[in-house]
Amino acid sequence: MRNSDDDPPIITLSAGPVDAYPAVLRALSRPVTYDFDPSFQQFYESTVRKTAKALRTALPPVILQGEPVLGLEAAAAALIGADDVVLNLASGVYGKGFGSWAARHCRELVEIEVPYDDAIDPQAVSDMLEARPDIRILSVCHLDTPSGTVNPVREIGAVCRAHDVLSIVDAVSSFGGMDVHPEDAGADIFVTSPSKCLGGSTGLCILHVSERAWAKIDANPAAPTGSVLSLKDWRDAWRSDVLFPFTPSVSEVHGLEAAVQNYLDEGPERVWARHALTARACRAGIRAMGLDLWPAREAICADTATTVRVPAGLEDGAIRQEARRRYGVVFSAGRGPLMGKLVRIGHMGPVARPIYATVAVTALGGAIAALGGSADVGAGVEAALAVIDLAE
Ligand SMILES: *Cc1c(COP(=O)(O)O)cnc(C)c1O
Repeated sequence: MRNSDDDPPIITLSAGPVDAYPAVLRALSRPVTYDFDPSFQQFYESTVRKTAKALRTALPPVILQGEPVLGLEAAAAALIGADDVVLNLASGVYGKGFGSWAARHCRELVEIEVPYDDAIDPQAVSDMLEARPDIRILSVCHLDTPSGTVNPVREIGAVCRAHDVLSIVDAVSSFGGMDVHPEDAGADIFVTSPSKCLGGSTGLCILHVSERAWAKIDANPAAPTGSVLSLKDWRDAWRSDVLFPFTPSVSEVHGLEAAVQNYLDEGPERVWARHALTARACRAGIRAMGLDLWPAREAICADTATTVRVPAGLEDGAIRQEARRRYGVVFSAGRGPLMGKLVRIGHMGPVARPIYATVAVTALGGAIAALGGSADVGAGVEAALAVIDLAE
């Protein structure tokens, strides 16, 4: 029995956006309230406070009405002034991409780039900041999702603090699925989203902005105002006694509240643990099938997405298509220069459950075998199960 491209997927194991939790879907179906109705203004304030709690900070985050790239562009526009030298760390497609947004605003962009199956070495960052004391702002992607690799943001954050450098951290695909928070990471702007590990919908982004960053933004004459991407305009929008600068996406805010409540109720440590176990079981299964993980070493593999090298002689699009047609399982493709080189398996939100590691291994291995490649699906499933059972 085949699944046609018109049929909805049976199981989505994408690297985001992901299936939303049922509570989020219910919240999205609530009536759309007038945004200036006091009940909505209070709801908005309590949602921002809950989101701050999830971020483990006392500072209310800014919620912007658009997918997370809006947040990244807004962070660059607000923080980076025309005299600034910015150090961009590029270990993947998103890290590299941030450089193009930073370059619009800064005087000079300096980059440290490593191969996209590797991670940034904090010592290299420290050496660069020693060599270039004029660098004022650093940007780094925590989990570069197209590579499935994680950068050591705590260590990099400590290096930034030591050099009085402000940092922008993209934690879009890791926050909510891994132990990463703005203040532990020393992040001055920390961008994340409900649509990945929080299992929410795709229309909002969340930005933590530190006191130091607000001071820099206030001092930056180029920081936008009178714009939907203005952090300054949205700064106090969380307060129920302050008017919204523009209309917030009411339904998306309902969805965000449900996603954050879900996360806090389940308990963040438990949520991270199931993401980590799912990824660990998946990696064991991939290896046991005779396939190769994309990251150069296990220590830099993400807990929320597993990247698998496309076996020689096969084509990634054909593998994903076969997995979808044969089993109804959806994986993500590579991006940019990684397109065609790897297949991505997401473990985010509702599918960050260990049993889905066996689904991923079965569908990926089954598709590869069906296309004439070599994959020992039985060995893969056994290895994934062994990891899950050992964790009991
Ligand atoms: C998903 C994601 C974003 C948002 O980008 P889209 O590709 O538009 O969804 C930004 N940064 C990272 C690391 C992401 O994983």
